[in-house]
Amino acid sequence: MINLSGDFFAFAYLVATVLFVFGLKGLSHPKTALRGNLLSMVGMGVAIVVTLLRPDVKNYGVIFAGLLAGAAIGVPVATRIQMTAMPQLVAALHSFVGLAAVLVAGGTYLIHASSGHVDAVLLFELVVGSAIGAITFTGSLVAFAKLQGLVGSAPLVFKGQHALNAGLFGAIALLSAIFIASPNAPLFWAVTAIALALGFLVVLPIGGSDMPVVVSMLNSYSGWAASATGFTLNNPLLIATGALVGSSGAILSYIMCKAMNRSLVNVILGGFGTTAEQSAAETTTKPCKTASTEDAAFAFENATNIIVVPGYGMAVAQAQHAVKELYEQLHHKGVEVKFAIHPVAGRMPGHMNVLLAESEIPYDDVLELDEVNPEFARADAVLVIGANDVVNPAARSNKSSPLYGMPILDAYKSKMVYVIKRSMNPGYSGVENELFYHDNCSLIFGDAKKVCEGIVNSLKAE
Ligand code: NAP
Repeated sequence: MINLSGDFFAFAYLVATVLFVFGLKGLSHPKTALRGNLLSMVGMGVAIVVTLLRPDVKNYGVIFAGLLAGAAIGVPVATRIQMTAMPQLVAALHSFVGLAAVLVAGGTYLIHASSGHVDAVLLFELVVGSAIGAITFTGSLVAFAKLQGLVGSAPLVFKGQHALNAGLFGAIALLSAIFIASPNAPLFWAVTAIALALGFLVVLPIGGSDMPVVVSMLNSYSGWAASATGFTLNNPLLIATGALVGSSGAILSYIMCKAMNRSLVNVILGGFGTTAEQSAAETTTKPCKTASTEDAAFAFENATNIIVVPGYGMAVAQAQHAVKELYEQLHHKGVEVKFAIHPVAGRMPGHMNVLLAESEIPYDDVLELDEVNPEFARADAVLVIGANDVVNPAARSNKSSPLYGMPILDAYKSKMVYVIKRSMNPGYSGVENELFYHDNCSLIFGDAKKVCEGIVNSLKAE
């Protein structure tokens, strides 16, 4: 066995950490995202190989069996997963991190407790690591179930929910303090059990439209849980990596909260101030106008400027290449086309940016919410492709809507709005869209890809 010094491991871990930092930086723009991913992968490769060389790693058989079993499940899942199902996969992966933190903390406590006195700092690390891990584990399971459609996306609310959550949070803090002063196994597991319950309770009341914030919050929790595990295992790389995930997840949650006009404190306590009345979706039987692909093509051809609002339906239909063709056809005919991106359009942060980048739509024509909103009133027409919640004016006007307060793309302010969707079904939040009943709005029913191709064919024919 090679005899490597502590300095070697410290240096190698530093290299891996720097690669992770540059990897994260790369992910901040689509142009550098691929390089960012590659750097992070190299960093993880360095981290794994170097950790395997540590003298305290003895049982290679168990480690490789675990790696093989994980790869046997992970590789097929990762290669087959649909882009639209990524959020639930991410939520499931967060739950594993949380569970691992609980198991490592529990196991470490049992080993140390059986050998006598346990240091107070270690006790603190163990109980905090287990509590964060437990909240992450059950919270992520609920997020997975909601995103996968196993549980309805409507908020599950009851009276006194916030007080209960705050009470459980207080109980975790109090029992943890008692555990550190006078450690015993039942108290450790009691804290873990309360944290497991709290994880369920903080995510259950979150409505569908607010799920992105929760997923990024759980991402942050999973980072802190990993960091706590790093302290327990005395592994500086795990501490640093966990802190990177924890803080970048927290920053993302803050950005998402600002974008969604929600309070970060309410996210942490669960529920966003949702009330029982707000959780009920209303339905209406009002008439709405419909249009054909030819009608839309005619309107677009005679327009000077158009704004396209892509949403989850574009991802489902994989319509991004048809959308690019439509963009090129309209450009060819002298029509200015801009894309409006809502921060939570689709099912994961940056979902629409990724799809538009994949079809090579120029970044300069892709505008964020604040940039594009003043443009809607000046636009001759808006084409909404499989978006729903992100253009629902109820978020502005209807105080009883679960969407109320969420910033939206002001598509309804345009002269004409064409919406492509397959049916009158609501969007992810389960809330009916008032826009569809506005006089300036027409629905084109059908699959987003086929409808876009239909509009392109009509444009070519004219
Ligand atoms: P949305 O509100 O979920 O609406 C998607 C629309 O696409 C639906 O109206 C659906 O109507 C239509 N659609 C689905 N498949 C289609 C197809 N093949 N062709 C044409 N239309 C199709 O989507 P959104 O406006 O993008 O809003 C995203 C929602 O997801 C928000 O509530 C957001 O908070 C939530 N969310 C976002 C994230 C994130 O990180 N971005 C994560 C989790 C949840 P039909 O069924 O009638 O076709």
